[in-house]
Amino acid sequence: MNLILLGAPGSGKGTQAAVLAERLGLPAISTGALFRAEMAARSPLGEEVRPIMEAGHLVPDDLTIRILRARLSQPDCRTGFILDGFPRTLPQAQALAKLARIDAALSLTIPDEAIVSRLSGRLTCPSCSAAYSAASPPKRSGFCDRCNTMLSRRSDDSPAVVKERLAVYQRQTMPLLSFYHQHRLLVRIDADAAPAEVTARLLAAIANLHKPSRP
Ligand code: AMP
Repeated sequence: MNLILLGAPGSGKGTQAAVLAERLGLPAISTGALFRAEMAARSPLGEEVRPIMEAGHLVPDDLTIRILRARLSQPDCRTGFILDGFPRTLPQAQALAKLARIDAALSLTIPDEAIVSRLSGRLTCPSCSAAYSAASPPKRSGFCDRCNTMLSRRSDDSPAVVKERLAVYQRQTMPLLSFYHQHRLLVRIDADAAPAEVTARLLAAIANLHKPSRP
């Protein structure tokens, strides 16, 4: 099963992708996390994308499609994958359609006010990209539940950059909702709820995907 999670920054894509990955036995692939790993390794690609990411802008399509294509060619993607943060532009969606057959684009919807308050309190694991907040705190304060790394605040979660990321989302990523609607792949999920409730809604929607009654 090949799934896409769509949604504004702070809509819970990363959190839900990690939970779904575990429940469905599929890899969760975040292009943002792939770029952050390149930045942490100080690779030429990491250094190229650093100022772009720190400004809250999108990395150019050619670089993004290249890193995604390389990740999808790894053996763990053979049985399927969950994409978190890709595609974000129409050319990326068109490139993805050539790389894989998509089963659904699950769009997490949440009001802007909730996004700003979620991101302003968010702590992220620099190693595995797990995200924590007041609503879903880590078990041990300040440390990642999954890999025990010390949590920090993403540099692009500052209020000014969040504002820019939301504007970029509206301008460049929102058109994907019509793209996937036209391809009969769009499923909207109300994500303004506790993480476990959103997971239940997603799993119910996924279970419904292959039922014949779906239009
Ligand atoms: P994320 O971790 O998904 O919030 O992504 C963090 C940042 O990585 C974004 O603000 C972009 O700068 C960059 N990025 C991640 N995925 C993409 C993508 N599909 N296209 C372009 N830039 C991306």
